[in-house]
Amino acid sequence: MTPAVGILALQGDVREHSEALAGLGAEPVAVRTPADLDRVDMLVLPGGESTTMSLLLDSSGLLEPLRERLAGGMPAFGTCAGMILLAEEIIDGRPDQHRLGAIDISVRRNAFGRQVDSFETDIDVEGLDRPFHAVFIRAPVVERAGPDVEVLAEVPGPGGTSRAVLCRRGPVLVAAFHPELSGDDRLHRLFLETADQTEGGSVNVRP
Ligand code: GLN
Repeated sequence: MTPAVGILALQGDVREHSEALAGLGAEPVAVRTPADLDRVDMLVLPGGESTTMSLLLDSSGLLEPLRERLAGGMPAFGTCAGMILLAEEIIDGRPDQHRLGAIDISVRRNAFGRQVDSFETDIDVEGLDRPFHAVFIRAPVVERAGPDVEVLAEVPGPGGTSRAVLCRRGPVLVAAFHPELSGDDRLHRLFLETADQTEGGSVNVRP
């Protein structure tokens, strides 16, 4: 099947995700209402501002339908603010900020500090044969990953530690950075291929 891949289009960088997905043979669908969500097989939650998106999930009526689809195993790819929304726990969030709990990680918002608002770096990603150029913008970081969560990429942290920035649990993939801004579709491809495995091989990804 040609997968209908929703992009949560309440706020944030929707167009770049659409282009990457269309290039891989998927049908991108902007999701703004529960009826839009019904049409899609899987969902990308883009970067932007997670507290604003949380408010818009309420006003659009999408919060509960989205929780239900995720609980039912819908594949999802959250980038930056989208990763924050999908997390089990948000550190330094607003107290009333919704979290969707689709992946057992604790995420710290704006983890790289105000001094370093944005930066770019090449990261090694598990399963990719060459580094991925990652663009971080007021980025979160994964402070805790549950036992079922695979950490696919890390960046160096203070004092020789490392900080997880790309994680997967079943059909849910999350990135602290913006893969849609690098002109490199390998993580969108990874998402579609992961979704394909959980959907029993029915998703066509353009070679
Ligand atoms: N700091 C933003 C938030 O908390 C995320 C930034 C981004 O998506 N580029 O939602």
